Amino acid sequence: MCYTIPAIVEGVHKGKATISYFGERKEAICEFVHLSPGDYVYAQGGYVVEKISPVQAQKTLKAWKDVFFELRKIDAVSAALDSSDISSNRILQGILERARKNIIPSKEEALYLLNLEDAQSRLLVRRSANYLRQQYHNNSCCVHGILEISNICARDCGYCGISSSSGAVRYRMSLDEIIAAAGEAINKFGFKSLVLQSGEECGYSLDELVNIVASIKKKFPVLIFISFGEIGIKGLKQLYAAGSRGLLLRFETSNPALYKKLHPGCNLDSRLDHLRAAYEMGYLIITGGLIGLPGATKEDLVNDIILTSSLHAEMFSFGPFLPHPSTLLAAFPAPAEQDVLGVLSLARLMCAEKAKILVTTAYETLSSSARQNGLIAGGNSIMVNVTPLKYRSLYNIYPHRAHEDETLAQQVRQALAMLKSLGRGPTDLGSN
Ligand code: SF4
Repeated sequence: MCYTIPAIVEGVHKGKATISYFGERKEAICEFVHLSPGDYVYAQGGYVVEKISPVQAQKTLKAWKDVFFELRKIDAVSAALDSSDISSNRILQGILERARKNIIPSKEEALYLLNLEDAQSRLLVRRSANYLRQQYHNNSCCVHGILEISNICARDCGYCGISSSSGAVRYRMSLDEIIAAAGEAINKFGFKSLVLQSGEECGYSLDELVNIVASIKKKFPVLIFISFGEIGIKGLKQLYAAGSRGLLLRFETSNPALYKKLHPGCNLDSRLDHLRAAYEMGYLIITGGLIGLPGATKEDLVNDIILTSSLHAEMFSFGPFLPHPSTLLAAFPAPAEQDVLGVLSLARLMCAEKAKILVTTAYETLSSSARQNGLIAGGNSIMVNVTPLKYRSLYNIYPHRAHEDETLAQQVRQALAMLKSLGRGPTDLGSN
């Protein structure tokens, strides 16, 4: 099973390969493998992660060729706009027409879109976001695996069910368990990118984390994202040297006072410094915030999207606040699904060209149709939880997480069937 389509190398220049997917050219960094024209590769996130044999590549490409173009057609038809996609609301119509021409909505316009109440207008915003997604990213949908290696955390974030004061039952996977779980995801199910996630100060020393990343890189062809909280500049450098190339670190809210209130002993500047330093080092950045966080305004949400873009995020991660019973925010409600979709669509309208937009597991927990709804509202990325079942329910940052009890095989089957039904290709194509 493949989560990327093999590409053929057309040329290599200064550490970058020009690769072609059925004639469509992309650039990919090839620091992990030595390449020559005519080689076949898998690429993820702008990196070549694996060179494969011509026989293996041609077999996969043969199986994919018709499906590839068929899926694209399904997606293009469903994302197209027609005469019914016109609003009698002239302000809305003007904003959307400009966005379709890649004129980014102003802050005031963004706020106007988030404040829309009527179902027809909201639907039109989502359809416009889906149209833009298809125009810039075609039918590609990233499918990253996420492996939660430890739920130990020294922080006390006010909304989190595994914070240091939550009383959560703790676990820390051994290196052998991590290698086995990564191996299953990569070798058996074909994942090409993995996010390694934990709490902050997660029970491993920096040397142990470096060893985990280096061990996975040594054994498997995979793009590794780290998500261990604020690991420090030294930590970022050492983990990059060990082979990680992506950082998932959300800032949760761009409102400094609210950030301080919900993250005792921490401040927003420190987190942003971390993200900026990681970007300068070469990390791919996944960041974003919480939707419906108690105390946050819609203006804060617009600022969150603007901040995410300014941090050079290659993927936007915006999920709903979900109240956890063991936190001080237990009594606050989760946001309405329509509000979550509104933020995903707005992110697409404001960052049409560059953003991968994740449909988060938190949103999937809020709504059983979240994946489909998010993907047709501007989203083009999902994550599949590859954490062993015996640990998965212990990473309960919010209760009753989606896919908590599903085997990896079940999750993969469901994800691929859903993507196929929407005409989406589980590939990195279109995003390099
Ligand atoms: S959100 Fe992350 S850093 Fe904060 S308490 Fe939870 S696991 Fe720790």
